[in-house]
Amino acid sequence: MSPLPLITAQTEEKLLAFLTEHGHTKFRAQQVLDWVWRKRVTTFDAMSNLPPALKNLLAEHFRFHTPEIVEIHGSADTTRKFLTKMEDGSLVESVIIPAAVAENGEKSERVTLCVSSQVGCAFGCKFCASGLLGLKRHLTTGEIIGQILSAETIAEKRVNNIVFMGMGEPLSNFDNLADALEIITSHRGLEIGARHITISTSGFVPGLKKLAAYPRQIRLAVSLHGATDEVRDQIMPVNKKWPLSQLIPVLEEWSRGRNQMPTLEYILIRDINDSPKDASHLVRIAKRLHAKVNLIPYNTVEGLPWKRPSEERCRSFRDAVHKARIPVTMRYEKGHDINAACGQLRLRKEQEKNGSTPR
Ligand code: SF4
Repeated sequence: MSPLPLITAQTEEKLLAFLTEHGHTKFRAQQVLDWVWRKRVTTFDAMSNLPPALKNLLAEHFRFHTPEIVEIHGSADTTRKFLTKMEDGSLVESVIIPAAVAENGEKSERVTLCVSSQVGCAFGCKFCASGLLGLKRHLTTGEIIGQILSAETIAEKRVNNIVFMGMGEPLSNFDNLADALEIITSHRGLEIGARHITISTSGFVPGLKKLAAYPRQIRLAVSLHGATDEVRDQIMPVNKKWPLSQLIPVLEEWSRGRNQMPTLEYILIRDINDSPKDASHLVRIAKRLHAKVNLIPYNTVEGLPWKRPSEERCRSFRDAVHKARIPVTMRYEKGHDINAACGQLRLRKEQEKNGSTPR
């Protein structure tokens, strides 16, 4: 018998449909959501203003569950990476990134969580640890939300900024992602503004088409990492199926009607994509998309051949993009000392379990 659905995975619309089907009013749905998300109770019994029959109905059809936290790694820069165990034993990693100082120099209250959307990943980007073990399965809506609840337990603070940049290609798990987004952004849910949520994609065109039609103002980051098909084909297999000639038009479609710039994420890898010519190709795409660029010097992954370019090479790449008047930042991955590149912690744990080494 499959376990009952999680109450924390119900959008307002779904809960309302369930309750009206059982003869209850919209008001009752609001009360239940208030208990779950404002008062954060973890039993139906604790919902003291509900009639006993309704508490019983809820307990017969739903349950509470938060994933077990199996490892927490703190780092010198206060980034914390943690591993949670799902009910089927799958390991999922997430990263809490507190921002100490806001852009105006004042102390920031921002708590960012980098969330995973799948167990492993089918997309096999050549520089990424998550792709090394392939895709095991999609995460459910409840498991996506569970990472946020676990993070809040660890941080002892509410998460108020979410980036879907952990394990997996979020847009290939669109239905569960869309329900999670509803719960995250709803004022009867986690109530995090859509503009504080970023979806990162490797360039999965069918998912991007769905996102272009999605009404909320979610931010978009595209893991470009190469500005020609030649480079992207080498490091990102997704490009063979959906080359730049398909990716760029769908990004333009996403931008239409939105007052937002997409971010082009670009991991700088020595002798692969770090030449002045690469910079000029990147500038051309960024101009066409009115995008900003985020450069990330490569974070070494054990077992993979790629290397980080020298500081000087990274700086001159950034300067070339900047000179072309493209907004550009260079971000060193926080938590470099705790395997914070996506998938590394889970990869190490799986290897310990199997007694194997990375390929
Ligand atoms: S970078 Fe993202 S899409 Fe590519 S293999 Fe890693 S998790 Fe998957």
